[in-house]
Amino acid sequence: MVENHYKARMQRKKFYINTRIKQANIDKGIIVLLTGNGKGKSSSALGMVCRALGYNMKIAIAKFLKGVQTTGEDIFLAKQPNVQTTYMKTGFTWDTQDKTFDTDMAQETWGKAEQYLNDDSINLVVLDELTYMINYQYLYEAQIINTLNNRPKKQHVIITGRVASQKLIKLADTVSEIKDIKHAFRANIKAQKGIEL
Ligand code: ATP
Ligand code: MG
Repeated sequence: MVENHYKARMQRKKFYINTRIKQANIDKGIIVLLTGNGKGKSSSALGMVCRALGYNMKIAIAKFLKGVQTTGEDIFLAKQPNVQTTYMKTGFTWDTQDKTFDTDMAQETWGKAEQYLNDDSINLVVLDELTYMINYQYLYEAQIINTLNNRPKKQHVIITGRVASQKLIKLADTVSEIKDIKHAFRANIKAQKGIEL
């Protein structure tokens, strides 16, 4: 009896899933937005880079805000012929404390990102920490949205950063907000290689 009930439930579930899979027949480049205060935004983006590399896809990464910090993935991706990366040539904004300089550096990095977003040989573009550039008004949101809207039809884009604007949320196809429940740093554990950097 219990067995039969279980089987019927699984059959209904299978039917529902198969129907949903058949309905999802649109094939297009999507925008994934990863936001929120919890850890895991940039590393999730890098997880998708890893997936895309498995299919030999071409990837371009523009790193805003924390460009001078070398991470394990920077070292690894530098060896990947299918990945090109551009780094914003400034550290944390609270280190530089120079708005004009930071704005210039953001604009320079955005110029490179625009090239990626115009290049249909690039399958996936990662705009890491882009949200801050909008929030600090280093870049024009309207210009970013316009470029994203006019990118090659099959090109995927991943945007990361805390406090994503409402317009970015509206534009993106997939949006995840990562919630901060606990972070080791607050227990005075220093940033660990392979986990934080
Ligand atoms: P990650 O790169 O680890 O996926 P992230 O992109 O979600 O993190 P960022 O806000 O870009 O988070 O911060 C990058 C660095 O700060 C990482 O080393 C990350 O572990 C750390 N970090 C992220 N969230 C927190 C937090 N809530 N408290 C303290 N440190 C954090
Ligand atoms: Mg990040």
